[in-house]
Amino acid sequence: MSLIKTTSIRSLREIILDYNCNKIACVKILKVQQFNMFSTSSDLKTSSQTKTIDYQSYLNTVGKLRKPSLIREMTKMLATAPPGTIFMAGGLPNPALFPFQSLTVELDSKTKLNLDQTALRAALQYQPTSGYPPLHAELKKLVQHFFNPPKMSDSELIVTVGSQNALCSVLEMILEPGDAVVVPMPVYSSVLSLMDPHRPQYLGVPEDADGMQPHLLKEVLNNWKGKTPKLLYVNPTGSNPSGVVIPSERKRQIYEIARQHNLLILEDDPYYFLHFLDKDPETFLSLDVDGRVLRFDSFSKVLSSGLRVGFATGPKELIRVLELSLQASVLHASSLSQVLVHGILKSWGIHGFVNHTTKVKQFYKRRRDLMVASVEKHLKGLAEWNLPQGGMFLWMRMLHVEDTYEMVMERGIGEKIMLLPGREFMARREDHCPYLRAAFSVIPEDEMDEGMERLKALIKREEGLQRRKQ
Ligand code: PMP
Repeated sequence: MSLIKTTSIRSLREIILDYNCNKIACVKILKVQQFNMFSTSSDLKTSSQTKTIDYQSYLNTVGKLRKPSLIREMTKMLATAPPGTIFMAGGLPNPALFPFQSLTVELDSKTKLNLDQTALRAALQYQPTSGYPPLHAELKKLVQHFFNPPKMSDSELIVTVGSQNALCSVLEMILEPGDAVVVPMPVYSSVLSLMDPHRPQYLGVPEDADGMQPHLLKEVLNNWKGKTPKLLYVNPTGSNPSGVVIPSERKRQIYEIARQHNLLILEDDPYYFLHFLDKDPETFLSLDVDGRVLRFDSFSKVLSSGLRVGFATGPKELIRVLELSLQASVLHASSLSQVLVHGILKSWGIHGFVNHTTKVKQFYKRRRDLMVASVEKHLKGLAEWNLPQGGMFLWMRMLHVEDTYEMVMERGIGEKIMLLPGREFMARREDHCPYLRAAFSVIPEDEMDEGMERLKALIKREEGLQRRKQ
């Protein structure tokens, strides 16, 4: 009976109602649930006694009230159930009716990925929310290899629908109206779209060529008189939009400041495998001795954005709440995509993955160089920029145009050119912003020069318009 009293998962009464089962059967279900959950809300309390971080204190009401979905827990249990288990728990569709017989993907002229019957079945069926188990295991190895987190044994990983889905769910379980959030200036615009409806107070920290500046971070936090901030969002490698890679020493300083202010760090790093440096950057996760980093990775930029596969790594307690949130929303990332990503990673091994990402880096670096050469040719005296150290974007400041919004949105199309106005990446979008973001990822190489020539014409015209207004 004590089990029933202490469990915070679901009441016996609720389970009896939902599953129309008798009391003894439900006690069994609860036992299984209790055994299989590596962190329920009661575990969160236990962990806060043994760790310096009280993860509960970061959660909003939604985060605190998330409860496991028994159906989803059963799907997880099924993945590790002993052979011969008779499964009548979940509403899995019968695969005999799926109109797919085989699937072979050609990776290149020499390599084919042929999904055998087991893989095909998995690809077409529901999977545990934490991810297709073989992919989950493979990703843990990848994290260990590339990031080697100091607190790996206290960490967990979950496969997500790209990194955007994970960011969205994490923000939804943490942010409360009016919360203060630390962001770099400029910041990835879609994270603003996620946060804006929570009406946060943005504590914007200006970047220089090496990213968010620690002395300004300190200043912003020390001068802040409002609600204590809980989160620091950072996009450290080839950041969108500024292309900076935060050097290790600076990461250490930022990490230290985050420790002093007890901030959780959301390390959104989809361009990690897309930097142009000689050495892979150290990550915040690699520095995380406290368990205050939630890291978001993505295969969008290195395998395919349409697959919609990413993964989040961080403290078990927080990943568990993220899992509960995904149990209730998307259920899990696409099984087919996960099986494909697993197949590719298995067939390549770490060595093959590194070979592939090396090619990806070289490809984008070449494009970066071509775009910068065109910009140097056409925009000297009109704009200034830093050399992007990774990612897909060149971030430029117009020297004589106060705000680029109307120039791009209203007059850009007239010059047959599309870019993004800098305002989109600013926490205070009502302010004038003289920046522009140009993506060098998909523009055909032979159009770069023409593109920058058109931009030059657009800027000159804007400068003229601005002079006439003054
Ligand atoms: N974070 C950043 C900084 C991005 O630039 C993007 C893609 N534009 C994402 C997250 C989302 O990527 P995905 O969901 O495809 O992994």
